[in-house]
Amino acid sequence: MNSWPRNNLPLVAGYEFPTLKIIDSNLGLVTLNTPSDFRIYVCGITPYDATHLGHAATYLAFDLINRYQSLSGRSVNFVENVTDIDDPLLERAKRDNSNWQNIADTQTQLFKADMSALRILPPNDLVKVTESIAIINDFIKKLDSRGYLYEISGDYYFSVGDFLSGLPVSTSDAVKIFAERGGDPYRQGKKHQLDPLVWSANAEGEPGWESSFGFGRPGWHVECTAIACKYLDKDSNDPIVHVQGGGSDLIFPHHFMSAQIVKAAYGRDFSQYFVHAAMIGLDGEKMSKSKGNLVFVSKLISAGIDPMAIRWALLQGHYQKDREWSENLLSESEIQIATVRRALAQSEVTESKELIAGIIADLSKNLDTPSALKRLLSWSEQSINAGSINQSGLVSRSIDSLLGLAL
Ligand code: ZN
Repeated sequence: MNSWPRNNLPLVAGYEFPTLKIIDSNLGLVTLNTPSDFRIYVCGITPYDATHLGHAATYLAFDLINRYQSLSGRSVNFVENVTDIDDPLLERAKRDNSNWQNIADTQTQLFKADMSALRILPPNDLVKVTESIAIINDFIKKLDSRGYLYEISGDYYFSVGDFLSGLPVSTSDAVKIFAERGGDPYRQGKKHQLDPLVWSANAEGEPGWESSFGFGRPGWHVECTAIACKYLDKDSNDPIVHVQGGGSDLIFPHHFMSAQIVKAAYGRDFSQYFVHAAMIGLDGEKMSKSKGNLVFVSKLISAGIDPMAIRWALLQGHYQKDREWSENLLSESEIQIATVRRALAQSEVTESKELIAGIIADLSKNLDTPSALKRLLSWSEQSINAGSINQSGLVSRSIDSLLGLAL
């Protein structure tokens, strides 16, 4: 499938880019010591409720990493999946009495338009699960050949028992979370409660595909690992990817299982770093489908909200801090970007070298966007009061490259 269109990314010349520091969910604060070929895999949407502000905040965080790595001279290879076959999608189709493929296609188009409007750089490959059945089949065959696959009534499970030493929580908590996030710990015949399903036999009335494991459909974790390994394992060196990213709700079981499945199938490390974006809340609760409190990017845009105001509002909070969305945040952001625009519309502004170097330094410290925006705002206010140098074009291009703000 084609990604959305790619914007220009003008170089920010003449500045040093310190090596990016990020908080990895397992390791804490790390310096991203990666080669010039930087490989990142970000878990994509299940296209049935796209794109709410929680999604937008997540993809925005990884967009900043991609921008920073590209601008600091790395060649970024970024892959993202679209889980266009999954239980929630089928449930939605049933509830609305509509076709699951139509929902997936419409929501994927909407997602792509939202990403484009928010100036998120597109992945090199945006890959649908339904286009990847052969790749997933080959991956499951590897698990089988290494003895980590078993069957219960036509369903196939990955035997995770040998790989549980790094569980991020206690086993009993893991079982609880596993059950809450689509797992089936109590099924009769399982070798371990945490074994995830990698291929499920076709259920009456559900879509399915032919495979070496019968007619059916793939399980969640194996989809991402199969796609990531296929598209990003270019040199057979460890790790397969440098960063696996997603929302913090993917830490367990999804990203933990992804790493263990790759270890089992290839005997190799999947990702050098695991980076997670925090959740966006509304009225004190996490924004989620189950709570019914989703705010959609497309609805805000069609109500006339400037996508750059949405981007600015999300950047005002730190990507790894759970935070609240509100009308106030949005209107405050609209006022702030108007101030920046007013400054940039002047032919004379304040000297910009310190500003641009400061924004680079802020980003290098675990993407400190709240400080970067404060810095930009204060420079804009100064420029409106006492501009003296013709550098507004330079600032405009630099903040577009670094922060994705086209103002
Ligand atoms: Zn994933």
